Parts: sequence; structure tokens; C-alpha cells
Amino acid sequence: MPQEPSHSDIRHAVRRLCARFPGEYWRRLDRDRIYPTEFVQALTEAGYLSVLIPEAYGGAGLGLGAACAVLEEIHRSGANGAACHAQMYTMGTLLRHGSPEQKDAILPKVASGELRLQAFGVTEPGSGTDTTRIQTFARRQGDRYIINGQKIWISRAEHSDLMILLCRTAPRDDAGKATDGMSVLLIDMREAVGRGLTVRPVRTMINHATTELFFDNLEVPLSSLIGREGHGFRYILDGMNAERILIAAECIGDGRFFIDRAAAYARDRSVFGRPIGENQGVQFPIARAHVQVTAASLMVERAADLFEAGEPCGSEANMAKMTASEASWMAADVCLQTHGGFGFAEDYDIERKFRETRLYQVAPISTNLILSHVATHVLGLPKSF
Ligand SMILES: Cc1cc2nc3c(=O)[nH]c(=O)nc-3n(C[C@H](O)[C@H](O)[C@H](O)COP(=O)(O)OP(=O)(O)OC[C@H]3O[C@@H](n4cnc5c(N)ncnc54)[C@H](O)[C@@H]3O)c2cc1C
Repeated sequence: MPQEPSHSDIRHAVRRLCARFPGEYWRRLDRDRIYPTEFVQALTEAGYLSVLIPEAYGGAGLGLGAACAVLEEIHRSGANGAACHAQMYTMGTLLRHGSPEQKDAILPKVASGELRLQAFGVTEPGSGTDTTRIQTFARRQGDRYIINGQKIWISRAEHSDLMILLCRTAPRDDAGKATDGMSVLLIDMREAVGRGLTVRPVRTMINHATTELFFDNLEVPLSSLIGREGHGFRYILDGMNAERILIAAECIGDGRFFIDRAAAYARDRSVFGRPIGENQGVQFPIARAHVQVTAASLMVERAADLFEAGEPCGSEANMAKMTASEASWMAADVCLQTHGGFGFAEDYDIERKFRETRLYQVAPISTNLILSHVATHVLGLPKSF
């Protein structure tokens, strides 16, 4: 990658790389639920998964806006960055809160591709979105933590060497605040799997390599702790804000993919002796989707700018994620409708992208929870829970 490339250079280069992985590649993997190893390898070699890692550690040292540009272009091309985006947003936790020793040991290897940091373990079956009620517990014993518990929907765990794990190190009832008593551990999956950690794949409506995890007296060294014990919730929030902004950028890419495809099809497809795009009933929904995606992209830029500046950005990250995921879903629906029956044919890639972009209204945070945040934290309305 060239020195300090502009976002426009990055976009062009990512588009060129993605052209090597056309729809047929993604359709084949989707059919058999296979991880896109070659694609992730190509992105790693080109340096795109380490854009956020400082140059001193072998990365490009760019800001979140550059990472957003990478993911948006991946999605606009018809590909899917979900196979590897965690390598970017985990930096929100590790770069800001990891010790110099942890960063020295890990970041150069992540930047070179020797180590994969693709797994982010927060969600549990019993707690859902109510993160303070997670039960996975790391108990100190001598120079080790002993971990017991269960996680669900932990994506890419089978394709990652390291995982950032949120667990309790003090029971919720003993902690001063509900958010106290949680800690972040960096788990070496190569050591853990089969020695107290079991990974079980969960098949879903999209090709997402997601899993459930079972911890049964997994022992890890105390040096696995990121930052201070009991303060992990705050560290994880930095990763979550980055995650919401980056995923919002993926939604913008999806939205633009759908609009590009819908407009092209509406220009070409002739019915009743004229292009269907001549009918305002066809062109207005596409134009409306374009307006929504363009507006959402400004919200994503705003949130990324605040994150980069180290300013509080929780509300903006949430609003970016919500507006972008709703815009991409609307564009998906319009694109499918514009294609008529052909929208359902696998060969057009519309139905695959339609399924893929639907996820983002649920994960990494569902729309209701964003509305609840805005209602209470931004507008000062009474809390409902
Ligand atoms: C494919 C996939 C990949 C994922 N990858 C990861 C990952 O890598 N790491 C990870 O940690 N997690 C991951 N997740 C989990 C994801 O972040 C959660 O599914 C998401 O945050 C929603 O949580 P939940 O499924 O527990 O829903 P729940 O919390 O059970 O909520 C269910 C529904 O009820 C609504 N709801 C709940 N409470 C309220 C309320 N008080 N008011 C109004 N509405 C409410 C929610 O909005 C939602 O629509 C993934 C999920 C999926 C499906």
C-alpha cells in the first residue's frame, strides 16, 4: 500500500482487489458456508486489515475513516467484510487499553498476518443485550484465571488465533455499579481450544462463521488481562463504538451496491416496450434509497471523525449504525423489487446480499436498543429498564 494514501486511493485499490473475488466466488462459499480464506489473505497481504495499527507496529497508522472506506468498498463490490472486520474494531479495545508489552507482542504479528485477531466475545445466551448480566466468570487462582461460562454468536472463533473476551471477575451484586466487576481478557485460541474451551459452529441464514463457546475451567495466565481488572466494560465500549461505526460503513457499501444494481437493471430491463426505469413507480424508490444512504453516510463520517479525535461518540456511533442499517435494508428491498423475479435468482447476488444486510438491524446492536439509548441519553426521557 502506498504511504499515507487518500481515502479515494484506498477506495480504488480496494475495488481492484475485490474484482478478483467476483459474485461467483461469494455464491460458492455461501452455498457451502465456507470461510473466505483467500479473500481475507489477500486483504491482509495488501495491508488493509492493519490500517488502524500504528506504523511503529507495522500497520498503516491511519484513522477509523480509512478503515470505513475499506469496508464500504468491500461491501459495495458485492463482497462481505464480516469475515475479517473484527481485526479492525478490536483495535478500539487493544490499542487504547492494552499494555505496551501486549502491544509489542501482538500488534506486529497481527499486522503481518502471522496472528489473526478476529474474535470478539461478548454475547451470552442468558443475558442477551443486557451485557452487565453476563455470567462467564474468570476466577483468579495463583498466577492464572480459571474461566467458566458460555458465549453465543461469537463469529470467526474458528478462524482466529486470538479472542478479546468480556467476562465477570466480580459478581454483579458485589460490584458497586452494574458495569463494574467486568474484565477483558485476551485469549490465545491456539492454547485454549481443547483445553477448557469448546467451539461449536452455529449455522445461520448467512455465511458468517459464527459459533457458540463453552468454557470449562479454562486456565489462562494473569498477563491475559487487558487494562485493569473490573474496568473491562469501559474498554469494551471503545471496541463497540468502533464496531458500530465500521459496520455502519459496511451498510453504506451494501446500500450503494443495491442502488448501483437497481439503477443499472432499471435502465436495461424493458417491459411494455420501454425500460422499467422510465416508470416513476420504479425510479422514485431507487432515488429515495439513494437519498437515505447518502444522508446516513454523512452520519457515519461524523461518528468516525469524533472517534478519531478521541471525543465521546457513543450516541453518534449508535445513530450512524441505525440510519445506515435502515438505509441499506430499504435499498435491499427496493433492489429486489426492481429485479422482479430475477431478484430471487442466486446468480444475481441480490438475494444473498439481501440476507446479509438484514443482520445489521440486529447485530452488533439491535435497533430498539439504539432508540432506547437516544431516548434516555440524548433526549433525557425516563429510563424504561
Ligand atoms: C450472525 C451473528 C453474528 C454475531 N457476532 C457476534 C460476535 O462476534 N460477538 C458477540 O459478542 N456477539 C455477536 N452477535 C450477537 C449480537 O450482537 C446480538 O445478537 C445482538 O446484540 C442482539 O442480542 P440478542 O440476540 O441477545 O437479542 P436480545 O437481547 O434477546 O433481544 C431480542 C429482541 O428484543 C429487543 N429488546 C430486548 N430488550 C428490549 C428492551 N428493553 N426494549 C425494547 N426492545 C428490547 C431487541 O431489540 C431484539 O430485537 C452476533 C449475532 C449474530 C446473529
